[in-house]
Amino acid sequence: MDIAALFDRLRAASLDPPGVTRASYGPAEQAAHDIMAKAARDIGMQVSVDAIGTLRMLLPGTDAALPPVCIGSHLDAVPHGGNYDGAAGVVLGVAAAAALSDAPRRRGLLVLGIRAEEMCWFPRNYLGSQALFGLLSPDAPDTLTRADTGRSLAAHMAELGFDAAPIRARQALLTPSEIHCFIEPHIEQGPVLVAENLPVAMVTGIRGSRRYPRASATGRHAHAGAVPRAYRADAAMAGIALIAALEARWHALEGQGADLVCTVGILSTDPAHHAATKIPGALRFSLDIRSEDAALLDEMDAWLHAEAARIGAARGVMIDLGPGSHAAPARMDPALVAALEDAARATATPHRQMASGAGHDCATFAQMGVPSAMLFLRNDHGSHNPDEALDMADAEAGLRVLVHALRGLLA
Ligand SMILES: [Zn+2]
Repeated sequence: MDIAALFDRLRAASLDPPGVTRASYGPAEQAAHDIMAKAARDIGMQVSVDAIGTLRMLLPGTDAALPPVCIGSHLDAVPHGGNYDGAAGVVLGVAAAAALSDAPRRRGLLVLGIRAEEMCWFPRNYLGSQALFGLLSPDAPDTLTRADTGRSLAAHMAELGFDAAPIRARQALLTPSEIHCFIEPHIEQGPVLVAENLPVAMVTGIRGSRRYPRASATGRHAHAGAVPRAYRADAAMAGIALIAALEARWHALEGQGADLVCTVGILSTDPAHHAATKIPGALRFSLDIRSEDAALLDEMDAWLHAEAARIGAARGVMIDLGPGSHAAPARMDPALVAALEDAARATATPHRQMASGAGHDCATFAQMGVPSAMLFLRNDHGSHNPDEALDMADAEAGLRVLVHALRGLLA
């Protein structure tokens, strides 16, 4: 199968210079579904579309009693994004089916084109895969509105001929027992594989997070020259002491092999009150801590609160982390990760293991107890931008690994 030509067709159908735009439940996402459906039919796959628009492409196995191996990803894309985020997983799935059409297999191979993964359109994580498993709240079709149109999910679904009723009824259109396992090939969205000159990686887990978007430190505004250190309640230095302690702890834990990334995305004194000659009485900041290790996230959370209290008390400043949000990490299935790694070895494909920092539909499948794994493909310039660069040689390398692993899984 000519995967470069398939990517070209997807790009042409959703071109929105610079880059491509495929809004969730919009015409360009639908065009991508139509292109993939045709490619699947052309190689003899059985193609169907469920009530919410999930594209299901099946290469049947000889033993209908065995649940198929499932490969999938999403076909929507952010505004002026790249052509590969999401689409690469579906293209590789169909290309793998083409490569395996004559291979002996007891299990079938089910390739899914999942709807609505990019949260910039509808403000819900993994909307399409969560809907697929009946996990959305019943009011989601009416309360979730698309960012560009302001119209409801139900309205956009209806426009394409789909039905929000299963979502309202929390009806699962796919149950974990219907599939043997799930593999999501996806471009890497960070710089690691390019930097390390590796075409593919096996994902060991999808990082969960602890987020404090509205943390603050409150001390006392005072004259910069007149107040000795002991009498100050400097909000900026207290907040920064906490941030410095966090970074030191991050370095130490990383040195012990822990998976951890920490970000202070917002850090500012109050422009209405601050001045170069004033001790700042207020600091606002955000903390975003992610790890694939749930226990480490809990431990970091407890440590942060204790450290904020300790530093605040020592400096006469009230450090308040504010409301937090938690997302649990998703564990990939060790046996499936090992199968992909064995396939990389067998096909002499240089590789490594890594955590995924971004969320993916694969997290939903893992959450549902489906043995799940991801195969990352080297991609320059990150993702969600028009410069995403998946080299077709790397796509072919990923395909070789996938096909090799599938030969074992389908047998
Ligand atoms: Zn994606």
